[in-house]
Amino acid sequence: MRAKPKKSLGQNFLQDPNIRRKIIAACDLSERDTVVEIGPGQGALTELIAPKVKRLIAVEVDRALSAELSGRFQGDPRVTVINADFLKYDLSAVSIPPSHKLKVVGNIPYYITSPIIEHLFSFRNRISAIYLTVQKEFGQRIIAKPGTAHYGAFSCFVQYYAEPKIEFIIKRTCFFPAPAVDSCFLKLTVRPEPPAAVIDETLFFKVIRASFQKRRKTLGNCLKAIVPDGALTALLSGCNIDPRIRGEELGLPEFARISNAFSRYYNIINQ
Ligand code: SAM
Repeated sequence: MRAKPKKSLGQNFLQDPNIRRKIIAACDLSERDTVVEIGPGQGALTELIAPKVKRLIAVEVDRALSAELSGRFQGDPRVTVINADFLKYDLSAVSIPPSHKLKVVGNIPYYITSPIIEHLFSFRNRISAIYLTVQKEFGQRIIAKPGTAHYGAFSCFVQYYAEPKIEFIIKRTCFFPAPAVDSCFLKLTVRPEPPAAVIDETLFFKVIRASFQKRRKTLGNCLKAIVPDGALTALLSGCNIDPRIRGEELGLPEFARISNAFSRYYNIINQ
């Protein structure tokens, strides 16, 4: 008999065969692909991915599930099951031919969605596409455009490194046990180049976080924490940006303009 799903590990297993097939069809896999699966669990997606690809590395933190899966795929040279915390898993250890990139697939635990995306982006040069099942609201935040309700610092972070698309909605009843909310299947196409030229990415994301920190405050008020008040208005007007607007009205090109102006300002005053 199978062990009870562990809530602490976000174990909501995919039950619905139609959704499983729909997920695999959306991943657009080929026999040349090396795929990393995050949290294979009982193998609901693993068994459909394996026959379609060249190699599949499935990383599962639950020791019992990973042992069960290893046994099941023992005779399949394409599949390697690794018992590890994906957040500590070094994707540069996966060997791929020089001209190839990895695809990543995962019906992942909701409570670590952001850290998983951050971890994946730290290996973005090795990844072409990421396919994830995430909470519907979370997916809406990721794809949100400037000036809309769900738009925030995390939308900017993801859209800077990837082109996000919600492929379809997955009803909560497709999982066992059923989670409290519906999900969506999200595709992140990793960008070969960022969509805006940024001098200092650390400063760029600091500007973005500060701009969204206090939603009711104007951009000028939010950015005082980064650049002294006296210089701020001139710097923003040099970027053609009104300090009275709110951060959520700005897109990546505007945030790039602002942070580049701040970089140049700091370069001059630190000389
Ligand atoms: N892929 C399976 C499916 O679709 O039925 C299981 C999905 S379940 C939502 C999430 C899986 O991720 C569980 O098997 C859980 O044990 C595993 N998991 C949780 N945290 C993890 C981590 N940090 N690293 C790797 N796997 C993890």
